[in-house]
Amino acid sequence: MIDLPREDPTLAALIDRERERQETTLNLIAAENTAPAAVLEALGSSFNNKTAEGYPGRRYHTGCQVADEMEQLAVDRAKALFGAGHANVQPHSGVNANLAVYGAVLNPGDTLLSMKLSHGGHLSHGDPASITGRVYRFSHYGVNPETERLDYDVIRDMARKLRPRMLVAGASSYPRLIEYDTLRAIADEVSAYLLVDMAHIAGLVAARVIPSPVPYAHFVTFTTYKTLMGPHGGTILCEPDFAKRINRSIFPGTQGTPTLSLVAAKAVCFHLAATASFRATQERTLKTAVLLAAELSTQGYRPVTGGTDNHMVLLDLRGKGLKGDQAETALEAAGILSNRNVIPFDPETTQRASGLRLGTPGICTRGMGEGEVRPIAGWIDRILSKPADPAVQLRVREEVRALCRRFPLRGTPGV
Ligand SMILES: *Cc1c(COP(=O)(O)O)cnc(C)c1O
Repeated sequence: MIDLPREDPTLAALIDRERERQETTLNLIAAENTAPAAVLEALGSSFNNKTAEGYPGRRYHTGCQVADEMEQLAVDRAKALFGAGHANVQPHSGVNANLAVYGAVLNPGDTLLSMKLSHGGHLSHGDPASITGRVYRFSHYGVNPETERLDYDVIRDMARKLRPRMLVAGASSYPRLIEYDTLRAIADEVSAYLLVDMAHIAGLVAARVIPSPVPYAHFVTFTTYKTLMGPHGGTILCEPDFAKRINRSIFPGTQGTPTLSLVAAKAVCFHLAATASFRATQERTLKTAVLLAAELSTQGYRPVTGGTDNHMVLLDLRGKGLKGDQAETALEAAGILSNRNVIPFDPETTQRASGLRLGTPGICTRGMGEGEVRPIAGWIDRILSKPADPAVQLRVREEVRALCRRFPLRGTPGV
């Protein structure tokens, strides 16, 4: 930073403290990642100063030639990366992307079928606390109580009874693969659209480490900041037939001007996501998550569904007599960041929760791998075995600091 420390030392100091916090802690929050410096440079670029209502070639402002080229590049890269027919890169966030998809093809009061929030779904999939749950009539499917996995026969039965206009899949807290072909067959049978929200797994999908929903879904939405390692923002992919309706639903439907610096940062993110090193990172993210689940399992923790097929591990802490909030707090005191999460059929509230969600994107992006996961799993067990012991937390905190020093964060400019 050059100007900020002089112009606004207070804010500069906050940025520096945040960078330091990230540098010295282990980020196991499944929904987070560290964007490379190239992405942050695009975010802080002169595109911030351009207003460009509309789309490339059809703007409501002058001076958009370069902006048009840049947005088109982002669109083309998104399409190529995911093999999609159309991409809209303007959504300010993942929730905005979902809102725009609903708005593009549904009317208020229409019926949708989506995954229950308490079983791993997302607020924007029709939770009463979200505007989506007030504008549309959502019903929810959950996971099977025995397998803790999606039960496609139940989803099919519900779809046949409800005849929803849209079937929504995708989750924030589901460690297994989703059968997109089965869901598309169900959607086709009841003449529903299929929306897959792949926010959490977009990086794994981009790297072709897990299957892609793009060939099966009418609409695919995602955030660019989770496994994809980009800026905070959303993107919509769809078949070309829906391009016009999707574009109109973003602008003027639910947003005004695009944040062009954010679009530029997405363009960089899509470019980097097509590289061999990105793929290697995503492969490591998957492998380390599988290993983390296995190690914790050996130590007596129960991963929901028994393991993972993606970047996250959801632990059921009930066997250890612990609540999610206690575990989260104890780990944070040792510099290990995670988050409490309800598990399917959780007897506890969202605030307490019986589960703890862990993810490996953050540690893999800074270069850690399977060799680091074993000690990390050991530290988690040491902390959770004595969650109220500050001495244990202090000792692990020092080991965490030492590990972080060996794997410095790349791409977070400080003061
Ligand atoms: C994180 C997430 C979102 C929200 O994205 P924001 O960019 O934070 O609005 C939407 N859907 C799912 C499934 C998510 O996991």
